[in-house]
Amino acid sequence: MKEILLCKYGELTLKGLNRGYFEKLLRREMEKRLKLAGHFSVSAMQSTIYVVPQDEVADIDEALRLCRKIFGITAVARAAETEKDIEAIKALAKVYLPPFLKPYSTFKADARRSDKRFPLTSPQISAQVGGAVLESMPRLKVEMTHPDVTVMTEIREEKAYLHAGSFPGAGGMPSGSNGKGLLLLSGGIDSPVAGFMMAKRGVTIEAVHFESYPYTSDQAREKVIELARLVSEYCGRIRVHVISLTHLQETLRDTCNEEYFTLLLRRSMMRLAERVAEATYCQALITGEAVGQVASQTMQALGVTDSVVSRPVFRPCIGMDKEEIITIARRIGTFETSILPYEDCCTVFTPRHPKTRPDLEKVLAEEKKYDFAALEDEAFASRYAVDADAYEGL
Ligand code: ATP
Ligand code: MG
Repeated sequence: MKEILLCKYGELTLKGLNRGYFEKLLRREMEKRLKLAGHFSVSAMQSTIYVVPQDEVADIDEALRLCRKIFGITAVARAAETEKDIEAIKALAKVYLPPFLKPYSTFKADARRSDKRFPLTSPQISAQVGGAVLESMPRLKVEMTHPDVTVMTEIREEKAYLHAGSFPGAGGMPSGSNGKGLLLLSGGIDSPVAGFMMAKRGVTIEAVHFESYPYTSDQAREKVIELARLVSEYCGRIRVHVISLTHLQETLRDTCNEEYFTLLLRRSMMRLAERVAEATYCQALITGEAVGQVASQTMQALGVTDSVVSRPVFRPCIGMDKEEIITIARRIGTFETSILPYEDCCTVFTPRHPKTRPDLEKVLAEEKKYDFAALEDEAFASRYAVDADAYEGL
C-alpha cells in the first residue's frame, strides 16, 4: 500500500497575488528538508501540497515529523492512495483505517471530490466509506456534529486518498517570506522563544550573542549555538554573530554607578546589535523581553534602551508570563538546553541595586563619563560568526 502526505497551508491562500511566491518558498523548503527522509516529490495542487515517496526506502514517518516543523503548513494528513474506484476505496478503508480509529468511539465519514467526473457525489462517497468502516469496526458509532475523528476520502485528479484526520503543523508563514530580523540571543529561556515566534511569521533570523569571556565560559557560548540550532530546525540556518563585551564590562564594573550599570550595558548591546543589523541587512531587532520581568524590563528601562536604535525592536514575549514562555520553550524543544546553568554576560558583575525607573537625562549624564564609541568599536571588531543549522549540508 502506498502512503503519501497531504499538507495543508492556511493563511497563504489569503495572500492573493503573492500566493504563488509563498507557495514556491514553501515548496522549496520542503524539498530541501525532506531529503533527510529519502526521495520524495513535492507538488502543489488545489491548496494542498502532495509529498509522495519515490522509492521503497523513503521514510514516511520521518517525512511527517519534518513537515510538521515547516512554517506555513497548518496540517499534515498521512493518507493511503488507491485507484479512483469506489470498491477499491472501500476495500482500502477496511484494512487501512482501523489502526488509526482504534482510540476513538465515534466517527464521521466525509469526502471531497475535486474530480467532478467521478460517478458518485461527495455524500454518496461518504456513505459508502462510512459503511465500510462500520463493517470492519462495528463498535464505532457515527456522530455527525462532534465526532472524535473524521475519516476523509479525497478524489483527486489521478488517484483517490483516504485518511483519518490530520496532525497540526507548525502554522505561520514560510521562512523567508517576511524580511530578516536580528535576534539578541542569550542563553536564557525567552530569547529562543522570541526568535521562534518571529521566524514563525516568515522572518529570516540572524542572531547576535554577547559574551564576556573568560567571565563567561566556552560552554555558555556553545549552549547558545545549540539553542540557535534547535530553533533552526524550524526556520533553517541561523548565523550567530558573537561579540565580546569583556573590556566594556570591566570598564563599567570598575567605575560605573551601580544603579546605571545594567542600563548602560543594555544600551551598548542595542547599539552594537544595530551595527550588526546594518551589516547583515536586518530590518528589525528582536529580543525576549517581557514587561516587568526584571529591573531592565520596566516600561521606563525599555524606553531608555530603545532610544539608542532606529530600527523597530520586536518583543514577541512582551505580554507573556514566564510560565507561558516556558510552555512554548518546552513545545519547541529549547527549554532543557536553556536551563543548563552557565553564566550569561548579563549576569556577570550584576549590580545589587539596578534602577527600575530610570530617568533618561541621568542615564545620559552617566553615559558621558565613558568613551563608549571606542569601547564599542573594539567590541564590534571582535565579532565572528558561527552558523547554526539543523539541516547542514542539504
Ligand atoms: P532570556 O530573556 O533569553 O531568558 P535572560 O532572561 O537571561 O534570557 P534578560 O536579562 O531577560 O535575559 O535579557 C533580556 C533580553 O536581552 C534577552 O531576551 C535577549 O534578547 C537579550 N540578551 C540578554 N543577554 C544577552 C546576550 N548575552 N546576548 C545577546 N542578547 C542578550
Ligand atoms: Mg528574560
